[in-house]
Amino acid sequence: MDAVIIDTIPLTIDEPGFLELMRIRPESRQAGEFRKLLSEARHIARPKAAFRPAYLETSDEDSVTIEGTRFSSRVLTINLREPHLVFPFIATCGAELQKWATTIHTTLHCFWADSIQLMALGCAVAALDAHLREITGSEKLSAMHPGSLEDWPLSEQIPLFNVLGEAPGRIGVTLTHSMLLMPLKSTTGIQFVSEDGFTNCMLCPREDCPGRRVPFERHLLEKKYNVVPGRSRRT
Ligand code: SF4
Repeated sequence: MDAVIIDTIPLTIDEPGFLELMRIRPESRQAGEFRKLLSEARHIARPKAAFRPAYLETSDEDSVTIEGTRFSSRVLTINLREPHLVFPFIATCGAELQKWATTIHTTLHCFWADSIQLMALGCAVAALDAHLREITGSEKLSAMHPGSLEDWPLSEQIPLFNVLGEAPGRIGVTLTHSMLLMPLKSTTGIQFVSEDGFTNCMLCPREDCPGRRVPFERHLLEKKYNVVPGRSRRT
């Protein structure tokens, strides 16, 4: 199936919420500087996303083949036992915004520009999620991202780009030799419908992570997925 490109995504930022988060008083000089920066960003930003509906073809214990491309991950393999239609995807803040950010030099403004890029990526991901909910008719979408878990390393960006075909190029995202996505505020992965629901954080033992969404469930990692953190898979 062909990739679907979503490239008319507005940059929607909750300005009062951002100011509150940054502890900037709305009537202050800093708030004025932020509003100016945000206004520039709104004119320039083109967040984008793409996905390709794809069929799961075969799977063994530790790998799955999607559209002729093999992915090596025990966790991915187990998560994709049920769904046959999956959605490799890519989303980005957009090269336009990254280029704009390089023209900003004061430390505080660079931090704000970085936050704006992150929020633009959030807009792209939200638009992608809305499309996929509509297509699948399900609210129970889960995602896995290469590099988020030891079991599915960053090097798996290569097969993912292979399945996505021309889509990354069409939304201006490239993969470097060191597996970095450019623009940096981009993300990739595979979405799938899951009745149980899956979040990477469930299987991630990292302590004190500010981004943690749900608690680490060691028993799930060991019992359901048969993987021990910090060691190779159990046999
Ligand atoms: S706990 Fe933190 S590092 Fe681990 S998957 Fe969640 S957000 Fe990522």
